[in-house]
Amino acid sequence: MGSQVTDNAGKESLSRLLDRIGRMARGLQYCHGLNPAQWDSLRFVAQANRFSRTPGALAIFLGTTKGTASQTLNALEKKGYLTRVPDPDDKRVKHIELTQAGAELLAEDPLNCLDVAIERLPAAVVDTMAKGLGELCANMQARCGGQDMGICTSCGHFQGATDDGNMRCGYKQADLSCEDAKRVCINFDPLAVKDC
Ligand code: SF4
Repeated sequence: MGSQVTDNAGKESLSRLLDRIGRMARGLQYCHGLNPAQWDSLRFVAQANRFSRTPGALAIFLGTTKGTASQTLNALEKKGYLTRVPDPDDKRVKHIELTQAGAELLAEDPLNCLDVAIERLPAAVVDTMAKGLGELCANMQARCGGQDMGICTSCGHFQGATDDGNMRCGYKQADLSCEDAKRVCINFDPLAVKDC
């Protein structure tokens, strides 16, 4: 009974700590004239593969409407951090690209301060936290929904390397470069049945 009470108290304080760290991380992201959604968008564009660098994919990632994502994109474009370029094969599709100014700003990402704090923890603690938080994140996603993100080699749609050294996506029925295959994808599905 006593240890049950201690366990519950521990779980409660853990959820409070996560909430506190989340609020601190959010508060840090009001800097350089940007807000947290704008920082999230810059990070997403820097990490996403070419199929995912679209306004629609960004809206899914942010968990918002296309209209709200578009306002965020407009603000970042106006500041010179992002640009939208038409797809060479389908002019209706616009791809979002990070500009040089956007890449330089990301080097000053306020969340780098969290990375520094993590680096100061003992390696064993980091390993345990990474495993536990990964499981917690997967559990929350299963309960509350949310977009899964991952890279080609862990995706059910991945069809392997092509003869000319690219990677094949069965979902898009298209090739992507090896470098792009290591970037995160909005269509990632580890449980997808292999496409023929
Ligand atoms: S194989 Fe999966 S992760 Fe890779 S581009 Fe296709 S859907 Fe995205």
